Amino acid sequence: MSATSEQEANKASRHKVRQQKVKAAVDARIASAQIERGVLMVITGDGKGKTTGGFGTVARAVGHGQQAAVVQFIKGNWDCGERNLLENAGVPFAVMATGFTWETQDKEADTAAALATWQQAEAFMQDKRINLVLLDELTYMVSYHYLPLERVVEALENRPKHQHVIITGRNCHRQLIEMADTVSEVKCTKHAFNSGIAAQPGFDF
Ligand code: ATP
Ligand code: MG
Repeated sequence: MSATSEQEANKASRHKVRQQKVKAAVDARIASAQIERGVLMVITGDGKGKTTGGFGTVARAVGHGQQAAVVQFIKGNWDCGERNLLENAGVPFAVMATGFTWETQDKEADTAAALATWQQAEAFMQDKRINLVLLDELTYMVSYHYLPLERVVEALENRPKHQHVIITGRNCHRQLIEMADTVSEVKCTKHAFNSGIAAQPGFDF
């Protein structure tokens, strides 16, 4: 064997040993993660992808024949690609009828709409048949004081043991972040809107 091919062979065998160690460590961690229960996930931060991530998980659940439900806060009656698709796949949607708050400028009406939508969220979170509930843009209901935090916490704590819940929106309340099992913060490195590119159907909603 030439000096270079011997070096190559040594390199390959060192790589193999390293990979075996990595595999053993990963296998051990997989083996020790034995708990199966509903996960509370928060997707927050100011980058794009929070709602997309929530709906991606809804699609996953539906693809496994599971029941999912979606609650959309501050959506208004916009056309929503995910809704058009998922309602046809048997996913119930509860949509807050008012648009964005800076358009309505009516705190009383917004609070009433938030509470009415929240009641539908509570009904989903009491339903044992539902595996996953997406609470899209819920964080704003708490930060604008449309919904009492305690009521949200209580519903989350009392939900069926196997039920996953995903909360999306910017500036998630600290207490919800503490309660959650998985928290992802989407960071905005760039956004097309800031270069004058409009929100477009099929990509942004
Ligand atoms: P998406 O629904 O695309 O996953 P998101 O849920 O992370 O976005 P939201 O804050 O709910 O973000 O915003 C909804 C809309 O605002 C979308 O049309 C999205 O493209 C746009 N948007 C999201 N983040 C930003 C940003 N950092 N700057 C400008 N527009 C944004
Ligand atoms: Mg969103």
